[in-house]
Amino acid sequence: MKKQTDQILTERVAEITRRLRKLYPKARVELDYGNAFQLMIASILAAQNTDVNVNKVTPVLFRKYNGPQAFVDADTAELEKDIYTCGFYRQKAKAIQAVSRMLIEEFGGEMPTTMDEMLRLPGIGRKTANVVLGEAMDIASGIVVDTHNLRLSRLLGISEQKNADKMERELMQLVPQKDWIKYGQWITWHGRRVCNAKKPKCGECVLADICPSRRVE
Ligand code: SF4
Repeated sequence: MKKQTDQILTERVAEITRRLRKLYPKARVELDYGNAFQLMIASILAAQNTDVNVNKVTPVLFRKYNGPQAFVDADTAELEKDIYTCGFYRQKAKAIQAVSRMLIEEFGGEMPTTMDEMLRLPGIGRKTANVVLGEAMDIASGIVVDTHNLRLSRLLGISEQKNADKMERELMQLVPQKDWIKYGQWITWHGRRVCNAKKPKCGECVLADICPSRRVE
């Protein structure tokens, strides 16, 4: 029975992948960045905020602080002011300085290239690690499970997990590794553009005929 369910889920995910790949050939992380370190900082700033908002702050921020050492040397109150519009500015300034310090002290100022190393960085969880490794370094270590993926995977009947790490483990069994990086991006794009949390546009969704949660409009 389990084998049969796994087979059905694998086929469903393959079909979703086929359709979203076609719909979003240019899917990517929508945070602006110049290198892996900047993407990690932008991801920290994006917590509880939008990529659009963060993209308004980071061009000036990254000109002012050009790497981990500059963030470590920064006056914390000034850094808080620089990132104020991203919300939770005190916690985020602290997190940015902590992660920058550890990069310098333990990684020679270079970004780690494995999941295990990324997870040693303070405040960095699997989601951010996957974003940075996948998008900036093209290293497929897992699948980004953000708020969109959590919601859509449940709506689409792929997973019932509420915990992102557990859901990621399930998805990694269903999605071929060559698609791990893009899969998370396709789902995020679909969640942002079509399957909105408040008002999913089922009438224009390419997944409607295979989605158990579609709403009749
Ligand atoms: S059919 Fe509706 S609920 Fe299902 S994925 Fe599409 S927009 Fe979301």
